[in-house]
Amino acid sequence: MRTQIMVLSFYLVDVLFMVAFAEHGLLPALAPVVYGAAGCGLTGLFAVVVRMGLHRRMGGARFTTVQLVTACSLMLVTAAVVPQIGMLLLLTMMVAVATAALQLPLKHVLAVSGLVATCSLALLMAHGDRFGMPLEDRWSRLLSGLWFAVVLGKIAAINLIGVEMRKALSASNARLALALTQVRELSERDELTGLKNRRSILALLTEEGARFARGGQAFGLALLDIDHFKRVNDRLGHAAGDDVLRVFAKIVTGNLRGTDHFARYGGEEFLLLLPNTLDAPAAVLAAERLRRVVDEHPWTDLAADLKVTCSIGVTVSHAGEGVAEMLERADAALYRAKSDGRNIVCAE
Ligand code: GH3
Ligand code: MG
Ligand code: MG
Repeated sequence: MRTQIMVLSFYLVDVLFMVAFAEHGLLPALAPVVYGAAGCGLTGLFAVVVRMGLHRRMGGARFTTVQLVTACSLMLVTAAVVPQIGMLLLLTMMVAVATAALQLPLKHVLAVSGLVATCSLALLMAHGDRFGMPLEDRWSRLLSGLWFAVVLGKIAAINLIGVEMRKALSASNARLALALTQVRELSERDELTGLKNRRSILALLTEEGARFARGGQAFGLALLDIDHFKRVNDRLGHAAGDDVLRVFAKIVTGNLRGTDHFARYGGEEFLLLLPNTLDAPAAVLAAERLRRVVDEHPWTDLAADLKVTCSIGVTVSHAGEGVAEMLERADAALYRAKSDGRNIVCAE
């Protein structure tokens, strides 16, 4: 819409000059009237199309091309009818092409420029001898000079479109960056508990394994599995089971060291990465503290008679092994914790 207002003001300035030339007897009085009516009428029509959103259905580039071709046609026809201001109209047409070129794909710009150049050439061949700009006396020289200055002014005004486009581009870049951050955040989180998800903890585990392989500190790994969780679901329903998972995640998270990473590994199984944990007793100590926190939590706040415990399998990194072997060992330790009676920590 802002572009339509700019185009309209461009036409009105041209009309003012044509009126001045007509006053001076250099143009027929009808010329500014017809040119003004056609220019303003077309701009009004395009403004209605924009208002109704029809330009989007047509495609922005195609719509701008139609506008450009229409404007150039009007100027070429006017130049043919009043060739005494033909040069000024050709200069004005250049501004129209330059304005549209900012917004159009190269293909369209080349097509329209080719068409306009061909028509201008044909026009010059036919009426070239009468073509020009009024320079007979001081008054017409002043008007022609001012019209040319206005053409330069219009080119400067095109810069405003560039500023708008840059502003829109940087706003959409900012929106895109925000969306990307949100998508990345979502792709790394477990929806139910808000913890890191399996993919994200496995990536951290791989990183930690690589650090250890390069001579970094040993680290621990713990698999936590809620005991008889199926019974919780069966007795209280799936929604209450979800609440247990959320609370479990919250209380464990609240009792971690700042450097530990806790994630939902799947279902009612959680994975804890313990950087800087040199041996199995240190890992067992950390896991045992968490087991006790879960065991001692007042679960009856969620449901009468509710008791939730977890079994934990822990292990620490061994030189020369991959994370898959470490996970297998933690899984074996968890299996032993389950078979040894649950609500205990076992190490492998
Ligand atoms: P164990 O002590 O041997 O671990 O027994 P368990 O019942 O905890 O283990 P099992 O693997 O038999 O059952 C796990 C249950 O966890 C079954 C499944 O329906 C439930 N579960 C998995 N994910 C979710 C979830 O997102 N929400 C809820 N409410 N339940 C879940
Ligand atoms: Mg379980
Ligand atoms: Mg399980």
